[in-house]
Amino acid sequence: MYLSYEDRGNLAAVIANWPQPNVEITCITDGSRILGLGDLGINGMGIPIGKLALYTACAGIRPEATLPLTLDLGTSNKTLREDPLYMGSRRDKVTPEEEQEFMDELMAALTEKWPGIVIQFEDFKNPFPALERYRRTYTCFNDDIQGTGAVILGGVINAVKRSGLPCKEHRAVFLGAGSAGVGVARQIVEFFMREGMTEDEARSCFYLVDTKGLVTADRGDRLADHKVYFARKDNNGQQFKSLEETIDYVKPTILMGLSTLGGVFTPEILNKMAAWNSHPIVFPLSNPSSKSECTFESAVTHTDGRALFASGSPFQPFSFTNSAGETKTYYPGQGNNMYVFPGIGLGTILSKAVEVTDSMIYASGKAVAESLTAEEADMGLLYPDLTRIRDVSVVVARQVIRAAQESKVDRETGIRDLSDSDLDAWIKARMYQPHGEVQSLEREVGSLLSSIGRPNGFIHSVSEENSKL
Ligand code: NAD
Repeated sequence: MYLSYEDRGNLAAVIANWPQPNVEITCITDGSRILGLGDLGINGMGIPIGKLALYTACAGIRPEATLPLTLDLGTSNKTLREDPLYMGSRRDKVTPEEEQEFMDELMAALTEKWPGIVIQFEDFKNPFPALERYRRTYTCFNDDIQGTGAVILGGVINAVKRSGLPCKEHRAVFLGAGSAGVGVARQIVEFFMREGMTEDEARSCFYLVDTKGLVTADRGDRLADHKVYFARKDNNGQQFKSLEETIDYVKPTILMGLSTLGGVFTPEILNKMAAWNSHPIVFPLSNPSSKSECTFESAVTHTDGRALFASGSPFQPFSFTNSAGETKTYYPGQGNNMYVFPGIGLGTILSKAVEVTDSMIYASGKAVAESLTAEEADMGLLYPDLTRIRDVSVVVARQVIRAAQESKVDRETGIRDLSDSDLDAWIKARMYQPHGEVQSLEREVGSLLSSIGRPNGFIHSVSEENSKL
């Protein structure tokens, strides 16, 4: 569904046209920052459709209960505005005040029509104001900030465990202080606090670098609100203008890339990480692969095979002989948001939570870490095998439900006393199974054919084809 700024004042009436009666989840974008591709205006529609398809595939949310929503609030992309084939509004992007007024009306209209609806924000250029404004009054979350934070938290929990160093001895340099960078850093602060550090101690482990260098309180520019929390105050007036200067100053144990700058984790930087750490944690998270801060091959080669690695984009396994002459195959981890957001959505829908609390987001990341099997850990993986995603989503949904229960934001009170295994069975029974639909179709076709006296063999060949599909 597309909603235009021109529809303001009538959003409830437009939404009433949606043909499906029971919507459980919507994914909303205004197209203003699609992946690393910039402002695509209403051409961003592939994002909510694709994301909701993943909710169905990975967590079994019924397809007819999903609503992909693209807002046409104008576009700041001049090329699009001048393109005769562009189908969106040709007006410039509305002001933040106009956007807020529109969003207020939209959030109320969606929740009035479908009272339990889960609202997921996606790929907004500045996503922080809406999240702050609505997170306590509506059942909503932002996957760019919170989902990314949670999934990387899952990998970091496993990497920190494997590094052998306690949390308080870690120092993390983040290249990129946008929605993803700040979201990830916030979740890891929470992890360090749960491991016994105070908030100030935990926060002091983080060094964020943006286009102007290390984010410090006395750098001289006006910091965006979301960066202020991490601005360093212990730099004694010294400024560090680049990633290289910052890492020489910090000597990090963790290096995170959320900058969209392909190849900036150079062999020299990786060599230094390996010299300072027995197991350097290196997460080049920018997408697509061409924007990845380094490749898997480079991370393995330039740390002598010792890097604890996860990337945003997929890389192939890589065979390498280290300085001790041992040859082995290394497997890359991929910190794909798909490990968490489908389970967050499912757990929130099933618990009928009135709010998506910080503890529910945190629980989703922790659940991903706990889902790693002993075999996967032996292969050096930090994330579970993606082919087990539906099992992982059940664990994520269960932990999200438990966190909702603990924060008392759940309304499905009848499942509070279930054991973990009973709760898992309850969740699984509510997951949409495309295979189940195929089987019931086969049954229907089977009874139809037997009623006209056709042999059963035909059905078996259909069945085999379908299971291949
Ligand atoms: P964003 O535009 O909000 O932030 C980008 C940040 O990079 C900004 O802080 C900017 O200052 C910084 N930056 C840009 N050029 C720089 C330079 N030359 N030197 C230093 N810093 C520079 O984008 P975002 O939403 O935060 O996403 C960033 C990247 O993370 C994207 O590539 C996105 O695909 C990726 N991402 C990955 C995952 C995942 O793997 N799970 C999830 C979300 C986002």
